[in-house]
Amino acid sequence: MPAIAYLECSRCHTRLPADVPQTLCTQCPDSPAGALYVRYDLTPLAGTSPQVVVSAGDATTPWRGMWRYRAVLPDVEPVTLGEGWTPMLRSKRYSDLFLKEEGANPTGSFKARGLGLAVSMARHYGLKKLAIPSAGNAAGALAAYAAASGIEAHIFMPRDVPLANRVEAAAYGARVTLVDGVISDCASIVAERKAEEGWFDISTLKEPFRVEGKKTMGYELVEQLGWEYPDAVFYPTGGGVGLIGMWKAFDELEQLGWVKPGKRPRMFAIQSSGCAPVVKAFDEGASVSHMWQCPHTAASGLRVPKAYGDYIILDILRASGGKAVAVSDEDTFASLRDWASHEGVFLSPEGAAATAAYAQLIASGDLVSSDRVVIFNTGAGLKYTDVIASALGLSHGVNQ
Ligand SMILES: [Zn+2]
Repeated sequence: MPAIAYLECSRCHTRLPADVPQTLCTQCPDSPAGALYVRYDLTPLAGTSPQVVVSAGDATTPWRGMWRYRAVLPDVEPVTLGEGWTPMLRSKRYSDLFLKEEGANPTGSFKARGLGLAVSMARHYGLKKLAIPSAGNAAGALAAYAAASGIEAHIFMPRDVPLANRVEAAAYGARVTLVDGVISDCASIVAERKAEEGWFDISTLKEPFRVEGKKTMGYELVEQLGWEYPDAVFYPTGGGVGLIGMWKAFDELEQLGWVKPGKRPRMFAIQSSGCAPVVKAFDEGASVSHMWQCPHTAASGLRVPKAYGDYIILDILRASGGKAVAVSDEDTFASLRDWASHEGVFLSPEGAAATAAYAQLIASGDLVSSDRVVIFNTGAGLKYTDVIASALGLSHGVNQ
């Protein structure tokens, strides 16, 4: 595992040391301060064979799952619950369509990757109290990894999150506050109270290691396709950390020479038409988004009215030749039912927004069916049984 060379600001490129906990860039001339990237000296690994460097340990070691990529992760003792190396499922109906099943992670969502790594680093730094605003699944993941490492978790989430998120966070022993509002209201509370309470703010992009954990999705999808890029990646986008992490992984894979030469995938950010700040900014040619007013969608993970890393997400979409796509809840739940009944996969509403977007872009000609596409199902449908029962009219046990 490499030592971290330095942390680099995504806006002004200032370098900060990683020997103490860092949050955002301290040197940005303008507000808001830039998010920080973890940088290593990858030169010793350049030109090596990934088949030799990347391998899973046996059950007696922690170097399994996403930690198979320890060669490109911080040199830290993992707090692991078995996150990563999730299935890459080929669609039963579309031979070039693949589903990356992140619902197979601990706590049933992709959030396990970023928070697994961020909590590992928090323990390494000796932090005792972590605070997070969450749309739901990040709360469950933080609560689990905090419990596994003896760290306090202070969680702020909207009162209307799926029931599973409330139950799991409470069961793991986290201090949970339900807020009348959306995730940005929760973030304001954390920001106001963290100094007084002694909390370290582990919010999306406000520390460097959640991106670093999420980047393993980029390594995995390339490895699982034979160290080749697909043509396109569909990513349900609330905070967009995975999209940012995957693009960083592609940078590193190219530096290392681990990916077969070829064009990077077109990146598609999928949002709900009831909360689509990135789509609006993309369509208007803007470099940042604006706070979405009155966000409403049953896909709770997409109820993010403004992503902190919107400037990075928009850059990536444009650089890759992709776009941002909004999907209605009606189309989302129709696709959820379609995939459950025809593919045997119970998608999260966020994942179903992405499968619905795939159908939209095939119909519009943005993509053709021979394009090799990877869709991320960011969480297990089972975490949303209350939401899905309501959306499908099954609340009273009536099979419609
Ligand atoms: Zn900066």
